[in-house]
Amino acid sequence: MTGAGNPAPPAPAPARRPALRARIERMHDHCADTRSLWLRTIGVALARFAPGMFVSIAIPLAAGARVRPYSIASSPEDGEPFEICFNRAPNGAGAAWLFERETGDELEFTGPFGAFTLDRAPEAETIFVAEGTGVAPIRPMIRRALADREGPPIHLLYAADRAEHLLYRGEFAGLAHERPRFRFEPSILPAATLWDGLGRSVQRRWLDSDAVRIRNFYICGVGKGVLELRDRLRAGGYERRSVRYEQW
Ligand SMILES: Cc1cc2nc3c(=O)[nH]c(=O)nc-3n(C[C@H](O)[C@H](O)[C@H](O)COP(=O)(O)OP(=O)(O)OC[C@H]3O[C@@H](n4cnc5c(N)ncnc54)[C@H](O)[C@@H]3O)c2cc1C
Repeated sequence: MTGAGNPAPPAPAPARRPALRARIERMHDHCADTRSLWLRTIGVALARFAPGMFVSIAIPLAAGARVRPYSIASSPEDGEPFEICFNRAPNGAGAAWLFERETGDELEFTGPFGAFTLDRAPEAETIFVAEGTGVAPIRPMIRRALADREGPPIHLLYAADRAEHLLYRGEFAGLAHERPRFRFEPSILPAATLWDGLGRSVQRRWLDSDAVRIRNFYICGVGKGVLELRDRLRAGGYERRSVRYEQW
């Protein structure tokens, strides 16, 4: 028993999530270098997760085992199998290993984990900014954000270097048609200046045009452009908790 004046007992060690196994039930090539896998757990079911979370996949390479996180691209409401979506990375042995998997193969993973999440429909205007496969965690967030017919405006600024790298385009366009408060804005920008282009658009519309600073931002993609956009928004007056990001 812990009473007043007694020292608190030591905090219990954080519970480690056990490794789970899943079988690849289905795969789909969005294009030559981008693939989705649908994974169904074997034995223990996937724990409840919030839109935006990821699983950490064990990748056994000859040079040594590595673990790589992959966002859950499907919604909690979809149940199992759940989807991950990934692309080849330059010299990326982990992604290359995933591309060698076949339907019926088994994977080991832990999770779901993550703090880059949107669990409840937002009350303020919300802007999602993503590039390429960076839309994977954002896809279920958008579905959650649009769960109610009425609500604040929701924007998706989505860029890629080529049209084939703009994923789920038909789905987002369909959602925008159904829900006029959802604005889907895909763009094709050169890889080297992609985040500059996204940053300029954000600057013009949500920093320079008014003094409102009660919007939410969710930013996801590869490299330092994610952090630069985060910093631009914070420097422009948005609170830290209003600017959520995940850099790969
Ligand atoms: C929380 C989190 C969630 C992630 N979710 C996804 C996901 O849903 N889909 C996905 O494709 N990747 C995702 N990633 C990236 C993924 O975990 C791996 O980093 C990526 O597949 C490269 O791993 P690798 O072992 O092949 O290459 P590495 O040798 O580990 O990485 C090589 C370089 O590739 C860069 N990189 C990371 N991801 C990409 C990418 N997608 N495209 C191009 N370059 C990249 C890294 O910054 C690094 O500089 C996520 C990363 C994090 C941190």
